[in-house]
Amino acid sequence: MFTRRALLLGAGTGLAVSAIGLPHIARAAAPFPQPDLPFAEDALAPVISARTVNLHYGKHHAVYFKNLNELVAGKPYSAMALGEVVRASRGKDEDRKIFNNAGQAWNHIFYWEQFKPGGAKAPAGELLAAIDKDLGGVDKMKAGLTKTATDVFGSGWAWLTLDGDTLKLEGTPGGDSPFAARKTPLLGVDVWEHAYYLDYENRRADHVKAVLDGIVNWDVVAARMRS
Ligand code: MN
Repeated sequence: MFTRRALLLGAGTGLAVSAIGLPHIARAAAPFPQPDLPFAEDALAPVISARTVNLHYGKHHAVYFKNLNELVAGKPYSAMALGEVVRASRGKDEDRKIFNNAGQAWNHIFYWEQFKPGGAKAPAGELLAAIDKDLGGVDKMKAGLTKTATDVFGSGWAWLTLDGDTLKLEGTPGGDSPFAARKTPLLGVDVWEHAYYLDYENRRADHVKAVLDGIVNWDVVAARMRS
């Protein structure tokens, strides 16, 4: 399970292989393997079609790992967990390509995980209380996150973030994230056109609303708040 901590510490990366005694494999050309999709490609339809999931996971997400593994070869980054690469490369002009690809590799693991079928269909408990207190309730949170998503200019992400003890909504450009900025993202909506254009064309807000109402596993989101 890709909790925030597991991501930071390297579950699903070459370091996990290293920990069970295969360092020659961990240091090979591909230290960061793309984790399996945690559901069938058609599991999110009709909110996100199987065709979009197939392309998004199989082409877009995959190429971030391919690029990252080529870029870190022979560099100290290749010995870090994926989450550490994201945070260590952020803001370094000379490592911008590494940050972009590591950020997107990490963001999409986080993205797929929150859509695992079977969990709560609405926020509850401690998460619901925090949404009520900080964001004025679930409906306002969803409307605010949709507005945040449409306000992202070009490619990027919209996030529900735990910043200290307070829930916030924020947009980030490209492959950046609250995680990269050492905060705690709880939910991330990909608003790159590849995430929605086949299914929703230019209607980004409709896509975000459908995601928030239809496929978020709120148990996963709540678990991230406690991690
Ligand atoms: Mn994407």
